[in-house]
Amino acid sequence: SKEKGGNCIQFFNESMRNSFQERLEIEHSLRLAVDKGQFELYFQPKTRMNSVTSMEALLRWKDPQLGYVSPATFIPIAEEIGLILQIDEWSLFMACKQNKEWQDEGLLHVPISVNISAKHFQQDSLIPLIKKALELSGMEPRYLKLEITESVFIKDPLQVAEVIYRLKQLGVLISIDDFGKGYSSMYQLLQLPFDEIKIDRQFITDIHQDEKKALLVKSIFDIAHGLHLNVVAEGVECEAERDRLLQMGCDEIQGYLFSPPVNKDAMRKFLAEADDQLVR
Ligand code: C2E
Ligand code: CA
Ligand code: CA
Ligand code: CA
Repeated sequence: SKEKGGNCIQFFNESMRNSFQERLEIEHSLRLAVDKGQFELYFQPKTRMNSVTSMEALLRWKDPQLGYVSPATFIPIAEEIGLILQIDEWSLFMACKQNKEWQDEGLLHVPISVNISAKHFQQDSLIPLIKKALELSGMEPRYLKLEITESVFIKDPLQVAEVIYRLKQLGVLISIDDFGKGYSSMYQLLQLPFDEIKIDRQFITDIHQDEKKALLVKSIFDIAHGLHLNVVAEGVECEAERDRLLQMGCDEIQGYLFSPPVNKDAMRKFLAEADDQLVR
């Protein structure tokens, strides 16, 4: 029994050591990836029925040794070890540049959404960063939408409010991501000049089969529309969910039903097809 206990402890230590090593490996590779710019930007279209209305830029990282590492894994690590500012800067610049390129090709003009970590709200660098991205790309501010999560309000709500106002003065759009997932931001929602909320996937999944969920989401839509906010549903995977959401007044649909995040060639095709639909 003593021996067994010993083994258990050893096993525990072993797995801990493995995950610790794995974590160090990711940290190390992430630093290299930032230095070498080993990222790719993917794009997920948002639609109303089947026409593209906007898109979200999502980061992809393929490490030579580790393979694809999910942003859900490496973004929190990047936030902890202080790499997130550089990573978000890269996404932001690439997203603006790419969207402007598509616009200059004469493709459909739609806003591009970029995820901005809450860490940026603890710095003074966010406003200059956004200005620089707009200047360098030449993209009009109204085509840039910043996705921030409710967690930005935890630290210093007043300072965050000031940054939000200054961002709005630049003419960019602001979206509350993962709405409903964190602590309630209903109060901030009433106070601050946001343009959009994105309802988290957990409230969307099976909405056509769950009347309580539907009731909750419908009431969020009504409040949001009363405040003239655009409402996006995340993680829409089947037609029944989409139909129910559109019927309840949802403005935009995002999810695997229409398309997962895709590379820039595939996204360009979506934009070109959307153009064809408009011309006909
Ligand atoms: P998010 O901003 O909530 O992005 C939506 C996530 O849901 C994406 O995961 C997307 O691929 C996934 N998704 C989209 N449609 C569906 C669906 O129908 N079903 C399911 N199950 N999932 C769907 P992804 O690309 O793995 O990104 C994970 C998170 O990483 C993002 O969540 C975002 O918080 C973060 N992230 C990604 N790129 C960046 C970035 O450039 N900067 C920052 N700060 N965060 C980023
Ligand atoms: Ca997002
Ligand atoms: Ca989200
Ligand atoms: Ca999410």
